[in-house]
Amino acid sequence: MSREIDTATLQEYDRKFVWHPFTQMREWEESSPVIITHGEGSFLIDSDGNRYLDGVGAIWTNVHGHCKREINDAIKNQVDRIEHSTLLGLGNDKAALLAKALIDIAPSGLAKVFYSDNGSTAVEIGIKMAFQYWQQRGRKEKTRFISFRNAYHGDTIGAVSVGGIDIFHEVFRPLLFTTIQAPSPYCYRCELAECRDSSSCGLLCLQRLEDLMAAHAGETAGLIIEPRVQGAGGMIVQPRGFVRKVRELCDRYNILMIADEVAVGFGRMGTMFACQQEEVTPDIMALSKGITAGYLPLAATLTTQDVYDAFLGEYRELKTFFHGHTFTGNPIACAAALASLVIFEKERLLESLPEKISYLSARLAELHRLRHVGDVRQDGMIAGIELVRSKETREGFGWEERIGVKVCLEARKHGLFLRPLGNVIVVFPPLSISLSEIDLLIDGISASVQAVCD
Ligand SMILES: *Cc1c(COP(=O)(O)O)cnc(C)c1O
Repeated sequence: MSREIDTATLQEYDRKFVWHPFTQMREWEESSPVIITHGEGSFLIDSDGNRYLDGVGAIWTNVHGHCKREINDAIKNQVDRIEHSTLLGLGNDKAALLAKALIDIAPSGLAKVFYSDNGSTAVEIGIKMAFQYWQQRGRKEKTRFISFRNAYHGDTIGAVSVGGIDIFHEVFRPLLFTTIQAPSPYCYRCELAECRDSSSCGLLCLQRLEDLMAAHAGETAGLIIEPRVQGAGGMIVQPRGFVRKVRELCDRYNILMIADEVAVGFGRMGTMFACQQEEVTPDIMALSKGITAGYLPLAATLTTQDVYDAFLGEYRELKTFFHGHTFTGNPIACAAALASLVIFEKERLLESLPEKISYLSARLAELHRLRHVGDVRQDGMIAGIELVRSKETREGFGWEERIGVKVCLEARKHGLFLRPLGNVIVVFPPLSISLSEIDLLIDGISASVQAVCD
């Protein structure tokens, strides 16, 4: 065994050589970054042996906890067989088995699996598929997309084009294609002048969406939605029934529905997929984050027989979907994903969720009492706690005050690792979290919010 490198050296290498995502590096270089070396269940362990409850589940990917024995074993077994071949001209056993397993659990009607390796590519593939579909169905004028305000679909150029978060996306505007943007369907964030209250907000947003569809159906290829919860936009929860209505509107106006389940898929909502909460089958579904339970990069874009069929033809017709990534269908990643699905069954994970979800919701309800908690949103095992200067006027903290960041740093003193979205504290733990760990999480958040905001 080689001696472990000391924390100071690791921090120095990190500060000197690593450029971190979504991070102002000038500040980072002056900080003492926590260096994670191990994980165990719901906990992250740093190079000094400190333990942190992982409140954001390894950036929304973790399902069964860290360092889960069955998945470790599946990966080790696969590595001793083969690490990678290619899906360009070859199949592999794990990619075939996983595709079958995904179709078995997906909303009925989804029939084909196109692999890639991250959420952004899964979305790009969905967009390109929808676009080419209409080209090959003889509707060449259907080239545009409807997206939602506050949406987040990833960081590559196509995914940013359908995004709706100005602070991330605005600087890239000249590089992007334009979309038809619908309001974000949640009262606290809808930004509609005529919105009065949450009971009518959903209907109002649907009306706006329908007006846009009626005006643009002829030129619209697809609509992309994060079903039930807009994640990076601030954990914005949609009214129940909204996804179902969006499906109906897409049918009425002949628009392909792309469900971006990158964040909400794999049990997060209490069902395997969020669309299943509303018995919806999208035309295209993007999956990634939870697919390997947080182990390895893998993504899948699922679609229907109808979409797939539009790409069939003689080779010289050039109807082929000319898209593919080098690590498409990587067998180690697919083996991890298969092992994760076995654990879902064996541990009856979905059956265990209603109790956790209602416990989380009971504990979250207590946070409403805090002076600076303006809104608490939850759906399934996702929550967002929005901090405001004044509850009465809904006046927020300025983004430059970075209240969310301060609360998350404070939370480390309570043994939590959290990562905010602006002034929204995110709760997105491993689905395997226990009720007593939920207590730890909510108690720590409550204490940290009071320490920073009061
Ligand atoms: C994280 C996320 C993506 C992007 O996934 P990456 O793997 O980071 O590229 C896309 N859509 C949603 C809803 C996400 O939460």
